[in-house]
Amino acid sequence: MRVPFLDLRAQHDPLHEEILTAVREVIEASAFAGGPFVEKFEKDFVAYCRTNFALGLGSGTEALWLSLLALGVGSGDEVITVPSTFMATAEAISFCGAKPVFVDIDERTYTMDPDLLEQAITPWTKAIIPVHLFGQIADMDPIMEIAHKYGLPVIEDACQAHGAEYKGKKAGSIGYAGCFSFYPGKNLGALGEAGVVVTNDRSFSEKIQRLRDHGQEKKYHHSDIGWNARMDGIQGAVLRVKLKTLERGNVARRAHARCYEESLDGKADLITPREAAYARHVYHIYAVRVQGRDQLMRALTDAGIACGIHYPVPIHRQKAYRHLGLELGSFPIAERCAEEFLSLPMFPELSSEQIETVVREVKSHSLPALAVC
Ligand SMILES: *Cc1c(COP(=O)(O)O)cnc(C)c1O
Repeated sequence: MRVPFLDLRAQHDPLHEEILTAVREVIEASAFAGGPFVEKFEKDFVAYCRTNFALGLGSGTEALWLSLLALGVGSGDEVITVPSTFMATAEAISFCGAKPVFVDIDERTYTMDPDLLEQAITPWTKAIIPVHLFGQIADMDPIMEIAHKYGLPVIEDACQAHGAEYKGKKAGSIGYAGCFSFYPGKNLGALGEAGVVVTNDRSFSEKIQRLRDHGQEKKYHHSDIGWNARMDGIQGAVLRVKLKTLERGNVARRAHARCYEESLDGKADLITPREAAYARHVYHIYAVRVQGRDQLMRALTDAGIACGIHYPVPIHRQKAYRHLGLELGSFPIAERCAEEFLSLPMFPELSSEQIETVVREVKSHSLPALAVC
């Protein structure tokens, strides 16, 4: 049996008619760039995240970039984040002219280690971006406490954590602002590119609103130098339809994760993801850790099971960031995880037969022993 890594076709098939109706409405109203369909989605997403404001944008990368711009982050500033993330987190910092400063991750949650945060703060630090990697929220209480002590805003990179919770609070609603991506493969995905920023701060939300629309206060009157970063009307309409299925999808992902864990737990050469006591994990990615990862990945691929690696190179070791001069060994946990992570198929429509196939194949390979942390 072939097992895909992700099956968007299976996700969209039951929604086909509803999506087409939504798209038809946008075409009939000719409301393509921002506009009423985006506003309706923003209202729904605000209710889902339990924040005051949501601003629809062109991508998650823009959500991060505009959030930092709205905070006034610029040249000479530093923004703290983690090396275990998708490139966009660091890019957004660099695109403001600021410098990314990294803090290593915690070995169990794969998110920012709060114990290492304070020592990374300098007089130039302007913001902190914890990343809710794979669908699990970073340990926000100690991060927020340190941020308050230094008067620093926290921007949550919630691009992989739609619907994840921290002590009952929704991802994106804990810090000063939360950034989401609706890239098609995310837990909530558009039919193209889209993103959103959520916040409780009115003036910050108004600033983002101007920045995404060329700094316009009213038509052709520009108070700021902004950008074109509006969400498409069609994406807003489609996301409204798909938002209704997000919770069901997250529940299914959690059930699949439990199946994987029950079957794989006790395999001494493999570490399954752990849900922190404070967290509701939404398993955007189901990454196990193994030694001899590439070998196992080849075997699974040969057996028709599609896997992924998120991510093979930590950001501080990317060629693009060579100028930072961060040697191997700078962030040992992130570096080690990058060599051991293997993402198994994970999506709501995954069947129990498919999970069994993956488990059987993984179990049939004996790997070098792993030191469990
Ligand atoms: C997907 C993602 C982004 C970027 O979102 P886009 O919509 O692709 O621009 C940023 N950060 C993380 C952690 C992501 O997974």
